[in-house]
Amino acid sequence: MRKIADWTRGEEAIVYQSCGACGARQYFHRSFCAACGAPDPVEHRASGEGTVYAASLVCRAATPETRAHIPYNIVLIDAVEGFRMMAHGDRDLVIGDRVTAGYRRLAGVVIPHFSRSAS
Ligand SMILES: [Zn+2]
Repeated sequence: MRKIADWTRGEEAIVYQSCGACGARQYFHRSFCAACGAPDPVEHRASGEGTVYAASLVCRAATPETRAHIPYNIVLIDAVEGFRMMAHGDRDLVIGDRVTAGYRRLAGVVIPHFSRSAS
């Protein structure tokens, strides 16, 4: 269980883990480091800053609740902290864009939504 509340628990935050043994960063919460197997990675709140690694426009809704939101852009973000995450993003985002996380409600739940950084 996450020690720091994040968007999966309705909080407007992104949380990642770092390994005290090898320094690896991971987004998917585990009780051990996926790189070296050391236990108890430390949780941190991410800044929400990153770069678009991949983007794909989804034109078919996965569920009836998301149909009203199509087309939507699913992006892979390389966070400045060194982990990669999948999230929603603005439709005009392209690979290499500098982005900042915001939060929206989709089908009743809080989700991270990335937009191009102001700077
Ligand atoms: Zn490690």
